Amino acid sequence: MSDASPAAGQSGVGGCLCGAIRYRFALPPLWVAHCHCTMCRRAQGAGFVTWIGTDGKRFELLGNAGALSTYRSSAAATRSFCGRCGTPLFFESTRWPGEMHITLGSVEPGLAAQLRPQGHVHWATRVPWIGEIHDGLPRQEATGSS
Ligand SMILES: [Zn+2]
Ligand SMILES: [Zn+2]
Repeated sequence: MSDASPAAGQSGVGGCLCGAIRYRFALPPLWVAHCHCTMCRRAQGAGFVTWIGTDGKRFELLGNAGALSTYRSSAAATRSFCGRCGTPLFFESTRWPGEMHITLGSVEPGLAAQLRPQGHVHWATRVPWIGEIHDGLPRQEATGSS
């Protein structure tokens, strides 16, 4: 689909700002999307958050896994971050069984540049100033807890 798509069968890596947490995941990701929901925005202190969906069975924690802190943000979901430097890293939910969602911002920059977002979700709850993005990507208005 994309000219710069990473080859299937390879793996990508990433990690937190302080380097305590590293991880590996299978390429290509299942999807890449910008999330505008209020919970993602607050959890990450950001205007919106770009996530990649990956196969949880082919995801591997590296480095000091003991540094990972997990917060149950809803009955269905957990959000994980580095307990040392605070970098938001992972999202898991029973709504997406078997998937590990990873913040694009924590993926190695060279690879992250190749993982092109395919759409916006929770567009209805976006911050007002984001409305002028003209990227041609589809908008999913639907809201709901994530
Ligand atoms: Zn860290
Ligand atoms: Zn979200």
